[in-house]
Amino acid sequence: MIFLGTAAAECYPNPFCTCPSCELARRSSDPKLRRRRSSMLFDETMMIDFNADAMAACGDYGVALDKLDHVLITHMHEDHFDYWNAAFPLMAVNPARTLTFYTSQEGYDGLMPILEAACRLPHPQLAQQMRDMMKISRFEVMPRFEPRPIGDKVVTALPARHDGFFTNEKGFSYLIEKDGKTTLYASDTGRFFPETMAYLSKVVLDTLVIEGTFGQNILSETAGHLDRESLCLMLDTMFEQGTLTKNSRIYVTHIGHKGVYTHYDYQAYLDEHYHGQVVVAWDGLRI
Ligand SMILES: [Zn+2]
Ligand SMILES: [Zn+2]
Ligand SMILES: [Zn+2]
Repeated sequence: MIFLGTAAAECYPNPFCTCPSCELARRSSDPKLRRRRSSMLFDETMMIDFNADAMAACGDYGVALDKLDHVLITHMHEDHFDYWNAAFPLMAVNPARTLTFYTSQEGYDGLMPILEAACRLPHPQLAQQMRDMMKISRFEVMPRFEPRPIGDKVVTALPARHDGFFTNEKGFSYLIEKDGKTTLYASDTGRFFPETMAYLSKVVLDTLVIEGTFGQNILSETAGHLDRESLCLMLDTMFEQGTLTKNSRIYVTHIGHKGVYTHYDYQAYLDEHYHGQVVVAWDGLRI
């Protein structure tokens, strides 16, 4: 697994922002202080979220996507899904692969009319490219709380409090089982719904990737993101109910500049509570 990006929606730094966190990141040459938008290559056949930044990240980290089949989309926000990426397999010298994008029903229902309308616009070049992308793209709707075989893995979509662009669209966290190991990728979430936390009480995680978007900027209980306190509350609850154990590997991603923390400050805060077991991820980190 490799983190292709670990930032919230605007990148870190946000190029339009002159807050002290962005200025510090901009001035620094430390790669842990600068983040592309979040996505993760789970293995060579499966990716979680596919934004514009992932294209450049693959070059930086020596990653090829020539075997990519499955893209799990957490939700329809521009930092998690950029459909234009589906144009680029068509430009490779090797035959274009079909990519299957997995989404919620509400994400699918919102996206499809937009793609279909783009195919019909009176701009021949645009319409043709959209039609070509559609030929190598499949969309599959993921059921909630229902384990589903995908390739050599079993994937379960768990609804999150975070809203996507479309009507009634809730983000998905993905539980991925492969070779007897279980990983949860939870970005963007907010505080887990009780039913999602209850489902996780039956699961023991080998690896957890969870958002920590707002850091020191403390949010309301119903917010669609986590801050340092609600992050710790989610982790503590998962430790108490046995979802996390002392053997679980835990990584925090989707870090925003509005959280004020640098990588090192955030790590120091989490070390006080978890003594090194919780790692603030950085771009290019391999697990
Ligand atoms: Zn996001
Ligand atoms: Zn900023
Ligand atoms: Zn989002």
